[in-house]
Amino acid sequence: MDKLIKATALNGDVRIIAAESTELVDKGVKIHQCAPTAAAAFGRMLTAGALMGSMLKSKQDSITIQISGGGEAKGVVVTSYADAHVKGYIGNPAADLPANSKGKLDVAGIIGLEGNLTVIKDMGLKEPYVGQSPISTGEIGEDLAYYFTVSEQTPSAVGLGVLIDTDCSVKAAGGFIIQMMPGANEMVTDILTYRLQEIPSITEMISNGMGIEDIIKYIFEDMQLNILESTVPEYRCDCSKEKVEKALISIGKEELEEIYNEGKTEEIQCHFCNKTYSFNHEEVGKLLHESSK
Ligand SMILES: [Zn+2]
Repeated sequence: MDKLIKATALNGDVRIIAAESTELVDKGVKIHQCAPTAAAAFGRMLTAGALMGSMLKSKQDSITIQISGGGEAKGVVVTSYADAHVKGYIGNPAADLPANSKGKLDVAGIIGLEGNLTVIKDMGLKEPYVGQSPISTGEIGEDLAYYFTVSEQTPSAVGLGVLIDTDCSVKAAGGFIIQMMPGANEMVTDILTYRLQEIPSITEMISNGMGIEDIIKYIFEDMQLNILESTVPEYRCDCSKEKVEKALISIGKEELEEIYNEGKTEEIQCHFCNKTYSFNHEEVGKLLHESSK
């Protein structure tokens, strides 16, 4: 079962956020009907979203992560919230490539290297916080680690994995963000780096039946691990007819008038969950009236 945990280790010098996200990723991949490589890229982004969303302090806050490197995937965007619910879309869900030299799905190949990773945090202030770093490898986990280090000055290790079954369903997905708190002993970084290189991949451990808590206990054995809280991350879209109405009104009077004069039923599909909202002639007229106020 999907689970996200927050913990500290080494007397609070290390902060850990980790999740199993198999069901969440499977749902997102099915909604967007992703090809295997696209599924792996999208799944890593969704997992990153759930992890980073849970780092937000307030329930109303949201975080959006975008990665756009000029590759076949045509960009991936995810938005998540403090309760670790997440939604997203991939520009080209059919993006797929032969396995890379390591025999793995070529996520970096479809993301591309010419572009940036952008993080937008909306914390209810006038302007959202926007941080950006260039794509380093296109594998997403390493790009996020690089982002944390250069843009937020927090040395971090990020592991993200998605294992796709032969029938294209998601066999295992999960990830972790491990951060050094300011003033942490440098030796801690060395010990952790070494240990993270030693362990099997997170998806390998999950598909072997280990829960996320077991995995973190295994990594942080003898390191004063303190599990603080756990929650269930999930793929969930919060769209509604009212929200789509607002979006329609915001496109402006002229365009609405054009839609109205065509006299057809206007169909709008949500990018995140593919749900279709339709507005008949009369409803479009009402929105036009509202936009003219
Ligand atoms: Zn939706």
